[in-house]
Amino acid sequence: MSDSVRPASARREPELASWDEHADVVVVGFGVAGAAAAVAAAVSGADVLVVERTSGWGGAASQAGGFIYLGGGTAIQRACGFTDTPENMHAFLAAAMGTGADQRKLALYAERSVEHFDWLVDCGVPFRKTFYGKPGWEPPGDEGLMYSGGENAHPFDGLVPPAPRGHVPQMTGKRTGERGGGYMLMKPLVETALTAGVRAVYDTRFERLVTANDGRVRGVVATHYGREIAIHAQRSVVLAAGSFAFNPAMVDRHVPALSGRPGAAVEEHDGQAVRAAQALGADVEHLHACEAAVHTDPGLMVRGIVVDARGDRVINEDTYPGRIGEELLARRGSQGFLLVDEQAAEEAEAARDAAALLAPQPSWVSEDIGELEAEAGIPAGALAATLEVYNRHAENGQDPVHRKATRWVRPLRPPYGLYGVRGRTGGFPLGGLRTDVDGGVLDVDGQPIPGLRAAGRTTAGLAAGGYASGISLGDGSFFGRRAGRAAAQT
Ligand code: FAD
Repeated sequence: MSDSVRPASARREPELASWDEHADVVVVGFGVAGAAAAVAAAVSGADVLVVERTSGWGGAASQAGGFIYLGGGTAIQRACGFTDTPENMHAFLAAAMGTGADQRKLALYAERSVEHFDWLVDCGVPFRKTFYGKPGWEPPGDEGLMYSGGENAHPFDGLVPPAPRGHVPQMTGKRTGERGGGYMLMKPLVETALTAGVRAVYDTRFERLVTANDGRVRGVVATHYGREIAIHAQRSVVLAAGSFAFNPAMVDRHVPALSGRPGAAVEEHDGQAVRAAQALGADVEHLHACEAAVHTDPGLMVRGIVVDARGDRVINEDTYPGRIGEELLARRGSQGFLLVDEQAAEEAEAARDAAALLAPQPSWVSEDIGELEAEAGIPAGALAATLEVYNRHAENGQDPVHRKATRWVRPLRPPYGLYGVRGRTGGFPLGGLRTDVDGGVLDVDGQPIPGLRAAGRTTAGLAAGGYASGISLGDGSFFGRRAGRAAAQT
């Protein structure tokens, strides 16, 4: 049976022969939200059982670059010479996370961000107090702080004083693609959970929720090596099983811009936890929203201009590359091109720190813009017109159209290189279950479903159509903690 159509409707407790396992709190998923929930529930005195589908902990979080979006004056921000306040962080999030973002969650997250950073440090997550200042997707080394949301670029730089908030755990013994910042976050979190007495069962796949006659969630049904097992949650179930990035039917229906383009997610993100809660009447939010990356070198993009298939420039290229990706993917049909000149390519090459990053090569090179338009299928004269306007203002170091910072603005001269970025965009959905600030899953009447909490990308979280790197590990761990603590008490 395909993952898209696996039954998700709840099982009734009286229909079960017996429970196979018992715990106070059952956490579904041992990624970042599940680990944070498990720690918080256990230190609140609950007996916690984590049900994990794969053979080990980690989820997408352990493969992540490791940005955790934190601020308001963390120890690293201060050590690196940046001033930040919860108010400024909140103002940025309110402007950048998209229309309809949950204002209560944004305010709470900004207000308690320093405390959350300190909690992560107390759990053993290592951070190095150094700042990486070049345009890029993530620091090439073990630097602990970087701009990760376009805070220092238009339009946010005029809103509040810019502060970098992308915190990255120190990558001692980094192994690219295997042990990066996400692993350095997850390992201590999981060790803290296990030390606090959390039990974990692996190779155990959550299938459905179990409810009592009064509608209260009483546990879960899972499969373990093909056998169905029923696990009783005396207090609460916490769903923390990731997004629906790998449920094609849900992606096609809710966020078609991502169809066939899943990125920064793992196959286990099949939406089953979302569907199981929906089957109980759970409400959902922001299902259309997505994180989007454009997989090319930000250091090259910032020195050129990014245009869509019609040759129109799309955004200021010095912003967070995820905003460039979102603009292309969500609003320009993923069609786009990057135009640079020889000087830009040489400067980007000289500035590139990541030895592992292969220098991207232009799809077409020419002295003649008209020839590039013809090669790329851009309407004749359209790219030339865009370049003429850009260059006219760049002569004076200005970019009045998109307001790229002066330091990156310079007329582009032949010969040119044009890079196709079609097929280089992808991402993951940001929408999910509607929850209160303590992870309580709300039904369509806005009432909490008794015995059910959720966190991480199973929920709608902080971002509703805008994004900054680190929001997922940030809101997953922050609201996962809150969900775990509340789950232990109910
Ligand atoms: P996960 O961390 O994936 O945890 C979910 C867990 O649930 C998994 O272990 C999964 O196996 C398990 N599970 C799923 N279904 C079931 C089931 N039916 N039964 C039992 N268990 C189940 N985010 C950032 O904030 N910063 C970054 O720098 C960043 N970089 C990234 C880089 C890469 C390469 C990738 C892949 C992701 C990156 N992300 C980043 C995204 C981030 O890792 C995820 O969005 C985040 O981990 C989501 O947290 P979660 O707890 O919801 O899901």
